[in-house]
Amino acid sequence: MNYKSPTCPFCKDDIKDIAFLESENFYVIYNYAPILPGHSLVIPKNHIQSLLELDENQHLEFFQLSLKAAKLILKVFNADSFNWTVQEKPPAGQSIPHLHLHIFPRHEHDLPNPGDWYPLLKENEKAQYIDSDSDKRVKLSRQEQIDIVNHIKTFL
Ligand SMILES: [Zn+2]
Repeated sequence: MNYKSPTCPFCKDDIKDIAFLESENFYVIYNYAPILPGHSLVIPKNHIQSLLELDENQHLEFFQLSLKAAKLILKVFNADSFNWTVQEKPPAGQSIPHLHLHIFPRHEHDLPNPGDWYPLLKENEKAQYIDSDSDKRVKLSRQEQIDIVNHIKTFL
């Protein structure tokens, strides 16, 4: 568990600049193209594709850190609902081969229907790699990400 891929956006050295929580093996980062305010990702520090590659201690560490992240973003974004989702491997919609758990707070009527997040998430997965002008969603600059991360950290 000590490999970084040179082409992977989640393996970049400066990823820690946009992390607001971390544990020994994982970061929680703020998404570069949030589908809703608060959209965060729990990722391993090393290039690991699947939950199934983690050992038991890492499963526990991952789950505990993810719950801590969920509680924190609910507080920061004043919500009590959230989505929590992992796409495992390309047939399930994983486009970046580096495990990432999406967590995003939900509010009444934040989207026309509660399930409308999924098409947005598919676009978001693409946005991590490709900077497409046709994608109308908000993309944050690195500085905007850092500002939000610093704001979230004030709630710790
Ligand atoms: Zn990676």
